[in-house]
Amino acid sequence: MKVICIGRNYRDHAVELGNEVPTEPVFFLKPTTACLYPGQIIRMKPHLGEIHHELELVVMVDSYASNVPTSMALGLVASFTLGLDLTARTVQNELKARGLPWEKAKAFDGSAVLGEVELPMTAGTDLQGYEIQLKRNGNLVQQGHTRDMIFTVADIIAHVSRYITLEPGDLIFTGTPAGVGPIEHGDLLEGFLNGNCVLRVDVE
Ligand code: MG
Repeated sequence: MKVICIGRNYRDHAVELGNEVPTEPVFFLKPTTACLYPGQIIRMKPHLGEIHHELELVVMVDSYASNVPTSMALGLVASFTLGLDLTARTVQNELKARGLPWEKAKAFDGSAVLGEVELPMTAGTDLQGYEIQLKRNGNLVQQGHTRDMIFTVADIIAHVSRYITLEPGDLIFTGTPAGVGPIEHGDLLEGFLNGNCVLRVDVE
């Protein structure tokens, strides 16, 4: 099992960080040790500096696949939820400035926070039809709609599977909309999918 993350998949977020809008999906990986499961707590680590929340739609695939045509890609999705792609932003900015890989800023323990409610894919599910919202201590900090993804979930699966074989249980974080920002000790973070809370995590 692995965690695949898409970067810069919403125009407004690419712009807020001063990045170019990509012409093909940008992806990177997190190890399984990055997963923070429901009921666990985000523990701040001083050596990582400022940690940003990035709320994202997360899909889980349930079969082995490579070179998947876009038209068949959604058939691999078993379920979906929300997640937080936690990012050590200061560290990431330093690495980006030096042209180095991002792992130290993106793949640390607990950096892939997963929602507690896993929704099954059904015939009527439209993954591009969800409003996603993040509240920090009850205040709305991120809001976006999956129709605004630059690359759809199907595009992402097709693209990634040209390079990396997908395996049962793989998770794909599909990118974050604008509004990323720091988290702090004592925060409560809550993620909403079309108004339903599916992610709830405390920061210690
Ligand atoms: Mg992200």
